[in-house]
Amino acid sequence: MLILGSGGRESAFAWKLSQSKELAKLYIAPGNAGTAQFGTNVNIKPTDFDAIAQFVKASDIEIVLVGPEEPLVRGVHDYFLNHPDLSHVPVIGPQKAGAQLEGSKDFSKQFMARHGIPTAAYRSFDRSSLDAGLAYLDTRQAPIVLKADGLAAGKGVLICQSIAEAKEELQAMIAEAKFGEASSTVVIEDFLDGIELSVFVLTDGTNYKLLPSAKDYKRIGEGDTGLNTGGMGSVSPAPFADQTFLDKVENRIVLPTIEGLKKDGIPYKGFIFIGLMSVGGEPLVVEYNVRMGDPETQSVMPRIEGDLLDLLQGVANGDLDRRSFSVSGKTAATVVIVSGGYPGEYETGKTISNITSVKESLVFHAGTTGEGEDIQTAGGRVMAVTAVKDTLFDALQQSTADAGRIYFEGKYFRRDIGFDLLNF
Ligand code: AMP
Repeated sequence: MLILGSGGRESAFAWKLSQSKELAKLYIAPGNAGTAQFGTNVNIKPTDFDAIAQFVKASDIEIVLVGPEEPLVRGVHDYFLNHPDLSHVPVIGPQKAGAQLEGSKDFSKQFMARHGIPTAAYRSFDRSSLDAGLAYLDTRQAPIVLKADGLAAGKGVLICQSIAEAKEELQAMIAEAKFGEASSTVVIEDFLDGIELSVFVLTDGTNYKLLPSAKDYKRIGEGDTGLNTGGMGSVSPAPFADQTFLDKVENRIVLPTIEGLKKDGIPYKGFIFIGLMSVGGEPLVVEYNVRMGDPETQSVMPRIEGDLLDLLQGVANGDLDRRSFSVSGKTAATVVIVSGGYPGEYETGKTISNITSVKESLVFHAGTTGEGEDIQTAGGRVMAVTAVKDTLFDALQQSTADAGRIYFEGKYFRRDIGFDLLNF
């Protein structure tokens, strides 16, 4: 098996898959210092399709799991299908057409509108309709949300506190290419006031399984302040997502999504990550992603009791309905340790010590390099520390304490991840 990616998400996948009795050999491209515990790292970029193809053939890879969105949006799955000597190798992750659910906000809004999936009211505008966009803003109320249509490394969403600010930003996005090509089309969307959570689905295109829910923390600062990051922590389950709420999510959102993909003739084998807003207990879709979340995967995987490889084979074979797993009743809490300065500029190459002093949490490497005891930082998000405990409180205490045990110069982590959820 080959996993594409190098973050904490891929570490959690590697950890989980390495427990499968059916796994003969695991490779991670490119992986990090931590994934080397669970398999063999291969120095190939997830977007270098030719190099991946060569490796897959040379190493008799039988299944490929794609971690991040970029290779999917760029068509890694289509690449495999279009090469006769690779087309028999299943790829977990949608083809380009399905990846548009994440690759284009306008596409995903149209998809939701077409299939009656609840989401915020919206309109899309480009250079030819900029004036209409400015006029549309006059008909809306602040706060209002502007979204660059394309992938913008998590930065393309602006929540504007006044219509005047929104007008300025709309001009900057469309006319001045604030997010490059990604903002040549902009979705203007009503602001949803509620609590956010994520629901994860694994599908073979016909059958699906709901995976555990999670809540993530995106801001750099405690109390959800400061700049947005790739993610500073997560908790699974989201305690406010009770069965009644999850039933609404399944009936109003998950089922119509799977059916909608079928009706539209879009094949889909892989994960669907549904970002939701609970507005007064009613779920609305904020976004689709076409892969698992990071750091949500680090909280979700430890709660899946069963063989992940068996589930992925079910996706590949189209018989996911014949595979099963159960979900642990425990709570998982993940705290991400980052390099000082992140999400702005930060230094790398700092020696990381005391990793082995963590005894009661899982340590998932992200931006790390090196071998054995000699591990250095190599990215903004360096590690994720996940504790799984009977109660939310114990999981939060343990993961926060264990994140404190690991040391490198300039290290930072949030000490408040998940504590806001204790009141639910
Ligand atoms: P997205 O990339 O679409 O998930 O947007 C990034 C973040 O912006 C989300 O996780 C939300 O926190 C916020 N956001 C996006 N759309 C809305 C909305 N319509 N109302 C409120 N917040 C939103």
